This record gives sequence, structure tokens and C-alpha cells, in this order.
Amino acid sequence: MRIGVIGGGQLGRMLGLAGIPLGLHFRFLEPSAACPAAACGEVIPTAYDDPDGLERFVQGLSVATYEFESVPASSAQWLASRIPLEPSPRALEIAQDRIAEKTAFRALGIPVARFAAVGTVAEVTDAAKSIGAPCVLKTRRLGYDGKGQRVIRGGSSGDLAPQIAAAWEELGRVPCILEELVEFTAEVSMIAVRGRGAGHTRSSAYYALTENVHRDGILWRSTAPAPCDPSGELDRMARAHVSALMESLDYHGVIGVEFFVTRAGLLANEMAPRVHNSGHWTIDGALTSQFENHLRAISGLPLGPTAARGACAMINLVGRTPLPSEILGVPGARLHLYGKPPRKGRKVGHVTLCAEDQAQLALVLRALEERVAWE
Ligand code: AMP
Repeated sequence: MRIGVIGGGQLGRMLGLAGIPLGLHFRFLEPSAACPAAACGEVIPTAYDDPDGLERFVQGLSVATYEFESVPASSAQWLASRIPLEPSPRALEIAQDRIAEKTAFRALGIPVARFAAVGTVAEVTDAAKSIGAPCVLKTRRLGYDGKGQRVIRGGSSGDLAPQIAAAWEELGRVPCILEELVEFTAEVSMIAVRGRGAGHTRSSAYYALTENVHRDGILWRSTAPAPCDPSGELDRMARAHVSALMESLDYHGVIGVEFFVTRAGLLANEMAPRVHNSGHWTIDGALTSQFENHLRAISGLPLGPTAARGACAMINLVGRTPLPSEILGVPGARLHLYGKPPRKGRKVGHVTLCAEDQAQLALVLRALEERVAWE
């Protein structure tokens, strides 16, 4: 069976690494031939919307999927007319637009922060009056790792106009969402998977709720099961929300949904219709990784068990590739490098850790964090 992946970055590479033992073959659509996924299959080195490239990409594929959500809508529609594209173009369309995403959450009764769609400075000003400062202005499309957003704090004078004008210019005068700035106590994500084949004993499965810490808008550390949820109540709430979302979309594949933990409970922030950085701990920390389960789900294979092998964590390696010897001296540390040249703010790999309990995990995490530089 040959799987096509749009995108050839680290997520494509890890899909390949998980699928090769299952006898799957991979083809990646990625402009750069020397991409991280090239180690795992054939690369079609064209733009994501190049008609000839798409035609070469689709030949002989059983199913196509993607590793990032900015896939051009026209390419997704074209591919879906030729072969199964999973998750569906509908899921992609929702995830590409922060307004569509928050509207879909709200329609399902999933709580979200107050928000408004804004298309002019006057609309931002009106929305800021009703939502109140501090608030966050984000581009509706193409934001990632904290890019494409500006916080409007307001000042002692209470005059928001200069900050609004500056944020609007800096973001490029494009359609935006204005959101209330949430006072969260933690950030968590739920990684789940829903299968495609009929007659499975388990049609969907959930990983342990994961607690995430960001630095400079980029994910730094994930820990699962989430230490902020000792009772498991947040995990149950997140599962219910993600289950409703997957059912409503007749979703196939892995999904990642990020939430803020507030005093009033969970508020959904965004969804990724793909394998997710906060699920990388599952490679070594769960009975079946998110990558393998995504492939199982989209290929119509039975899903694998998702239970965690203890207390697990993942640290992203950003900006500098460490020497393996620096990392592997930490008991239980497993190194995953992506084969990317290091650059400031760029994810070049990650490290996973598994321990018997949270106390043990905290000890090894401390040792690991001392050895990892963030650049
Ligand atoms: P996003 O691109 O929406 O995932 O945002 C990146 C990060 O910015 C989040 O993980 C939060 O740490 C922070 N953030 C985004 N939106 C909000 C918000 N409405 N209130 C508070 N923090 C936010």
C-alpha cells in the first residue's frame, strides 16, 4: 500500500518511520527534495499546487494525507476527487480559518474564549470595546507557533487606538480574529484518533491529556498524563469535546485539539487535523504512537491501544542540534532528530522521556533540561 503525504517535514518523516514496519510505502509532495521525509520515501519536488506535480503524486496511491494544514484548498479538492484524502477537505477547511474553527467548536457546545471576526481597523476597535482589553489580534489564516498575532494590552490611559493601529499594520491588514486574552492556569491538548474501516471493535481512541508549556510561542515541553489534572476530570471533558468534533466531521485520522485550562474549565483554542507536536511523546511513551495510529486509521486498519507507558514527557530541540552524547546520558532519554539544518527558532528534533511516576519524571526532566539549549 502506498501512502501519499502532502508535506515532507518532520511530521512526514515520523509518519514514514512508523509506517515502514507495517509494510507501507510513502510518497511526499514537497518543494524541497532534500527534506526531512526524504529518508522515508520518494519525494515529488514541486509546489503543493503544481498540476503536474499533483498528477505525478497521485499515481498509484491508496490514500493521501497531509502533515500541515495550509495545504491549498484547490489541491485538497483535486486530490479528494481522485483518491481518499484523509482527514477530509472539510476538516482542513475548518482548521485553516480561526473563525470557522471557533464557530464549529461553539456549535458543538465546546466552550471558547469570546471572539469576533474583524476586517477593518474600525471593526477591531468596535470588537475591542465589547471584548475588552487585554485581547489578542490574530490573522484568521496561516498563523503558527505564535506567529501572526499581537496582544493589545491597553494602557493606563485606556486609549487602545495606537496599539490597535500598530497591530493591524504589523499583521498586514488581513482578515483577523480578535479574542479575549484568556487567563489560563495551564495549556493542554487532547490527541485522538478515529478509524476509517467498518466493523472495528474500536472506532476511536484517545491519548492521555497532555500538558504543554510554550516558549516564545513555540512548544517547549509536553507532559502526559497532564500533571495539572490529577483527578482526570479535564481529561474526561477534553475527550467528550474531541469525540463530538470527530463525530460531527466523520473524521478519519489523528486530530490534536489545544485547550486553555481556566478556573471555569476548558476553553478550546485550536485544532490540528493531523499528527501534532504535543503528541510526539507517544512515539516512546504510548503502546501505539500517534504516527502509527494515524496511518492505521487512514488505511482502514484496526487502531492500536493508546495507553501511556507511565509518566511521559517530550522536550523540543529548537535552534541547535545537540550531540547525541549530550542527551543519551540522561536515563531513559530517547533522541529524535529531523535532519534539518539548525536555525534560530527552528525545531530540529525532540527528546522523549518515560518514567514510573511524575516524581521520577521530574528528576530526569530536570537533568535533561540542563543539557538542552534553546536558541
Ligand atoms: P495559537 O497560535 O492560537 O496556538 O497561539 C499560540 C500561543 O499563544 C498559545 O499556545 C497561547 O500560549 C497563546 N495564546 C493564543 N491565544 C490566546 C488567548 N486568546 N489568550 C491567551 N493566550 C493565548
